[in-house]
Order: sequence, then structure tokens, then C-alpha cells
Amino acid sequence: MDGMQPSPVEKLKRRLCEHGPMSVAEFMAWCLTANNTTYYRRGNPIGASGDFITAPEVSQIFGELIAVWAITVWQSMGGPRPFVLAELGPGRGTLMHDALRAASAVPTFREAAQVHLVESSSTLREMQGRALASLCKPQWHLSLTAIPETPLIVVANEFFDALPVEQHIYENGSWYKRVVSLNGSDRPSFTTGRLSVPPPELLPSREPREGDILEHRPATAAMMTEIGRRAGSVPVAMLVADYGYERRDYGDTLQAVREHGYTQPLDTPGEADLSAHVNFAEMAHAAKAAGLDIWGPVSQSDFLLSLGLEERLRRLMASASEEQRSALFLGARRLVDPFQMGSLFKVMAITSHGLAAPPPFAETVTAAG
Ligand code: SAH
Repeated sequence: MDGMQPSPVEKLKRRLCEHGPMSVAEFMAWCLTANNTTYYRRGNPIGASGDFITAPEVSQIFGELIAVWAITVWQSMGGPRPFVLAELGPGRGTLMHDALRAASAVPTFREAAQVHLVESSSTLREMQGRALASLCKPQWHLSLTAIPETPLIVVANEFFDALPVEQHIYENGSWYKRVVSLNGSDRPSFTTGRLSVPPPELLPSREPREGDILEHRPATAAMMTEIGRRAGSVPVAMLVADYGYERRDYGDTLQAVREHGYTQPLDTPGEADLSAHVNFAEMAHAAKAAGLDIWGPVSQSDFLLSLGLEERLRRLMASASEEQRSALFLGARRLVDPFQMGSLFKVMAITSHGLAAPPPFAETVTAAG
């Protein structure tokens, strides 16, 4: 029967014939999470045998330093017990595993932490459960809104890039929605849809030129509004690590990745990972509008080095075998090397208004002070 299955492009064509053009965000959602055959629902995309690799999979130090961050933030909240330690899109569960293992050095934190995971893929939920079985009993949700209303520390690594973006395209002096359509041809393509109004606060100061594209991610504002609402009654802190840009800018950053290489987003819809760079200016704007404080973004390299990556690496190397030593070193270097993950990846913290500056943004406080 397998031979009878329509190809991914055929499925997309059928969808477009039945329902008409899709916006870029609708297309991303359709490819990634819309049904059980789509990308994030199918299997495990992450790791050497998957389509892409992420920071926690590169080095255990990533999750360990996130634990240092979370413990410091929890202390600045006054050490609430219990509190929710949440992760959005935990992948294989590696980050949370490394963080909880490292956090066992602070038993009061570990005992107070209730682990909640936001994950849409059932395959990945199972992997996360296995990875964390010896450390905690996590609770899973489809959205942040379902997490209990207690003090909250949230971590999101390479989560926002997977959330759908809308694209607006500037043509003949006006903005239009960019859509995926058949447009009278046999193959789906990106075309110009209806007149649209991009969010004015996201427009760069330079006037748009013909063909400029402006991206915006509707889920960002929704998520920040939810965090801001919670911050009205409980302390909240969130750490977002992702690849992206800090300044308002034009550009089409939608990308498809399959088996560690780039492909065209329309070639194998639902079978390649689709993502778009995170617009940190949009996130900062939405967080501020929700009454939250923002810190950074800083480069992933600055973040990890300030939190003590080198010291942690030295300690791990001291007790490692020759072979482990080179893997530890290469992994750590990959995280901070500007030609690898060090500068494209950025880290931003978002906290309840008035909470102490989280590390590394609190560096100005010295022991002498
Ligand atoms: N944080 C992990 C995985 C990144 S991949 C790591 O660093 O390795 C993106 C993760 O987000 C996957 O776990 C994916 O299943 C999940 N995800 C993507 N879109 C989602 C959505 N809309 N709701 C919940 N989880 C989602």
C-alpha cells in the first residue's frame, strides 16, 4: 500500500486545491505540527541520526550552565517552594536531564522544582520521559497556558524558531501577505496574496524596497502576554536561546533542513524541518508591552563564558579519559566559537518587573560592593 501514499508535494497540492492559498505561518504549522504525519509528530528530528543538532546535544555543559542560571534566578525570587521549572520544546530531554543532574548540588532547589514540559510530539514526549525517568516525573502540556500558576522559571532552547512566522512582502508601494499557492501551475510556490498591514512597531527605520520581506511571529506576543499576566501574581523568569537577529530588519529567513543539509521549503513539505530566525526585537517589544523586564540578548558565547563555561570544562576534563577530553573540548568550543554556534545564537532573559538582574546581566555586582 505504501506505493499508493501521495507524495508530500501531492498532499500539499491537495490541501491547496481544497482550501486555497495558505499564509507562510499556516504553511509552517501544516508542515510541522498539524497532523500525525507532519514533521514534529513523526519521529525524532534531533541528533546525529536526525536532521539537525542542538546545543544541549553538543555538550552537557549547556544544560549544566542553564541550571546555574535557574538556581540563581530562583534564589533571587526568594527561593519559592514549590515552583515550576518548565521547558518549551525539550527535544530529547537532554537539556533538562543535564540541568537537573547539575542542580542536585542544591537540594533545596531540586526538591522545590516541579518539572513541566510543553511538547507537541508524542514521540519526543516518550523520549523525554525516558531521559528524565531517574530524575523527575514531568508533566506534559500542549501550551504554556496549561502550566499551574506558581512561581515559574521557563527555558526555551531552539523552540521559538520552530513556531510559525508570517511574511509580508513589499511590492509596488504596498505590503501584501506572502502565501503558498498553486497559482494556476502544477507546483506550489510562494506568491503574493492580499494587501496586508505588517505590525508597524516591527518595521525597520529604512524605507522598504521592492521585494523586501518582513517577518513576524504571532505566537511571540501571545506567549509574552501570558507570561506578563502571570507575572502580575507570581515571580516569573524565562530564558530564550535561539538563532536570530536583534535589530528590526527585512529578510526572508524561512529555511528547510533535512539530514543536516538545507533544502527548499516547498520540496518535501512535512518531511524537512522548517524554521525561521527569531526576531529578538519583536520578542523584546512584546515582553515590554506585557510589562516584563528584558535582559540582552547577548551572544550564546558571551552568555556561556560569563556563566563559567571554561571553569566547568576544566573540571570535567580533569577527571576524563584522553578520548573524552577531546570530545568535551570540541563540544564546548562548538558552543562558543563565533564561526559555529557562538554568535548567531543569542540568549535573552525575560523577568517579572523588578526582579533582580539574572546572570550574566548582573555582573556589575562585585564581591567588594
Ligand atoms: N530544545 C530542544 C529541541 C529543539 S527542536 C533542543 O535544544 O535540543 C524544537 C522542539 O520544540 C521539539 O521538541 C518540538 O517537538 C517542539 N515543538 C515545536 N513546535 C511546537 C509547538 N507548537 N508546541 C509544542 N512543542 C513544539
